[in-house]
Amino acid sequence: MVIDCHVHLNQYEHTNKATLEERLQILLDTMSKYGVDYSLILSSFRVNSDRPSTSKIIELVKKYDNLGVIAGFSIDNHSYNDLQDCRRWFKNGFIKGMKLYCGYEHYFPYDKRYQQVYDLCIEFKAPVMIHTGDIFLKQGKLRFSHPINIDEVAVDNPELKIVMCHLGNPWILDCQEVLYKNKNVYADISGLFYGDYGTKSEEYVSKRITELLNYIGEPRCLLYGTDWPISDMGFYQEFFKRVELKPLDRDLIMYKNAKVLFGV
Ligand SMILES: [Zn+2]
Repeated sequence: MVIDCHVHLNQYEHTNKATLEERLQILLDTMSKYGVDYSLILSSFRVNSDRPSTSKIIELVKKYDNLGVIAGFSIDNHSYNDLQDCRRWFKNGFIKGMKLYCGYEHYFPYDKRYQQVYDLCIEFKAPVMIHTGDIFLKQGKLRFSHPINIDEVAVDNPELKIVMCHLGNPWILDCQEVLYKNKNVYADISGLFYGDYGTKSEEYVSKRITELLNYIGEPRCLLYGTDWPISDMGFYQEFFKRVELKPLDRDLIMYKNAKVLFGV
């Protein structure tokens, strides 16, 4: 079984122009092509013609039992009412967690204004996913997305489950220490490859993942995710096959950890 815990329905510059409905169909086709059984769709930190709102995504994917939704939230673009919508969606089972984009909107994850999101996630025993590491948009600021910031949130909210997206890449070593130290922190391996990547960087990342697991001593904290359509699902599966893992550990990372964490 495969659970991809990190995909988007946004329109990006490098992907072919398509309507939201077409993009959903492409996602479903790509999932079945590569044998992905379940995907979590993350909505954006802002809504525009390229980035559909959480409610629009929920409406569209409600009827599919192989798709779940993670609600994006931002300090600048969302209000108290949006948070109340999230509360309702949690209650109805329409969302499985929330996502913050701190580096994109220039706030530290431990900013007090995010606490309402953490409280809501704790209340519904749902994880909050937080973008860490390199930022896709040039306007983003890296100090807000450095994985070390997650330690603050993890320590102050021991009941909160946090997923560091993208292994904090390229600060994978910092991500590793935050995972080791905090049992309530997880990380997804999504978005590590864009466009054409040679074997060199695959080798590099694969070694970092093995080292990270050796350091932590258990694979309970890692989740398989791609960041599709930014990263390619087929490429990702081929890459991950080459990461040296015990078969049981591979199963945990490919789907078992995510199943428990997101209640899939
Ligand atoms: Zn993403």
